[in-house]
Amino acid sequence: MASVELRNLTKNFGSVAVVNDVSLTIAHGTLVCLLGPSGCGKTTTLRLIAGFMEPNAGEIRVGDRVVSTPQKSLPPERRNMSMIFQSYALWPHMTVAGNIAYGLKLRKVDSDTIKRKLDAILATTRLAPLADRYPGELSGGQQQRVALARALIVEPETLLLDEPLSNLDANLREEMRFEVRRLHDEYRYTTVYVTHDQSEAMTTADVIAVMNAGKIEQAGSPEEIYNRPRSKFVASFIGMSNVITGKKLNDNQINFAGTPLRVTGEPQPGEAAVSIRQHQISLFAKEPANKDNIVAAKIVRQVFLGSSRDYMVEVAGGTQLRVVTSAGEGISQGSDVWLHLPVEHCRALVS
Ligand code: ATP
Repeated sequence: MASVELRNLTKNFGSVAVVNDVSLTIAHGTLVCLLGPSGCGKTTTLRLIAGFMEPNAGEIRVGDRVVSTPQKSLPPERRNMSMIFQSYALWPHMTVAGNIAYGLKLRKVDSDTIKRKLDAILATTRLAPLADRYPGELSGGQQQRVALARALIVEPETLLLDEPLSNLDANLREEMRFEVRRLHDEYRYTTVYVTHDQSEAMTTADVIAVMNAGKIEQAGSPEEIYNRPRSKFVASFIGMSNVITGKKLNDNQINFAGTPLRVTGEPQPGEAAVSIRQHQISLFAKEPANKDNIVAAKIVRQVFLGSSRDYMVEVAGGTQLRVVTSAGEGISQGSDVWLHLPVEHCRALVS
C-alpha cells in the first residue's frame, strides 16, 4: 500500500479545465471520497489516477513513484490499482468464484494460492454460498459484492471506486455503504471513492474532498466538513445550511437584518457570509429576555413532517431562512417570532 498524491493536477477538455489545479494527499490506508455535484470533475480525477487519461499539467505520485505527468504516464495495468465501475462489469459466463479469481489467474498465480485467497475473500464478503452462481442469478447488491471481492483479491495498492452503489435501490444502497466501510476497515487499502451522495460519503469516508467546478473547495473529516464548512458552496452542499450575509462590524460580529450578530471565525471585510444549519436555530413565539444573537422574523410557511417541523421565516430586509424544529406545537403562518442563532453555530465563511 502507498499514499496517493495529486499535485496541481489539471485536465482540459477543449478550453475548459474540468480538473483545475487540484492538489490532494491521500494518506496510506485511508478512504477519501470525492464528493460533488454532477459534472464537477470527480470521475475525470479518478480516471487520471487510474491512468486512463493524461493530465495537461501537474503530476500524480503513488508512494515515491511518479505515475502521471503531461510528458509520461504509466499505463493502467502497471499501476497496481483496482477500479470498480458503476456497472460492475462482471463476466456473465463465469461463476462468482470464476469472476473473483480471474485477476489472479491472469497474473499466473499458482492454484493453491488462488484457492486460499478465494476462500478468504468469499468468507469476508459473505459470498461463499453463492460461489457457483452466475451474475445473472444474483441481486444487484450481491453483484456489487462480487465486484468488490474481485477488486480486493488482487491486493491492489490503490482501490478506485466510481459511484459503486448508484445502481442499487435506496435500502440496499444504505446497507452497502456500511459494507464498503467494513471491508475498508478489514483491508485498509488506500481508496478513492467517487460519489455525489452526501450520506454515502459521510458513512464511508475518512476524508471527504468536496469538489466544485473542477476544484477541491475543502477536504477534511466528515465532522470537519459538516461542522466547519469554509465556503458558501460547502455549507449549502453539505447538510443544507442557511447562508446569510451582513456587513462586517468587527472581528467577530456582522450586522444581520439590523441586529448585531456574533459569529465564530473572522468575517470577511465588507459584506460577509455566515452559515448556520437549519436545526441549529431556535424559534420563540415571545421575545426572549436575553437579546444575545436574537433576530426578529415572521413565519412565511410551516410544514409538519411528523418528527419535526420545517419553517421558512423572513427577517427584516427580506432574507429568508429555513428552520427545522422538533414537532411540538406549530406556530402559524404570518406570526411574529424571534430566532436565536447561537454564536458557536454561526460560522464565518472564507469564500
Ligand atoms: P457525474 O457525477 O455526472 O459523473 P463528474 O463530477 O464525475 O460528474 P466528470 O465525468 O469528471 O464529472 O466530467 C466533468 C466535465 O467534463 C463534464 O462537464 C463533462 O461533460 C466533461 N467531460 C468528461 N469527459 C469528457 C470528454 N472525454 N470530452 C469532453 N468533455 C468531457
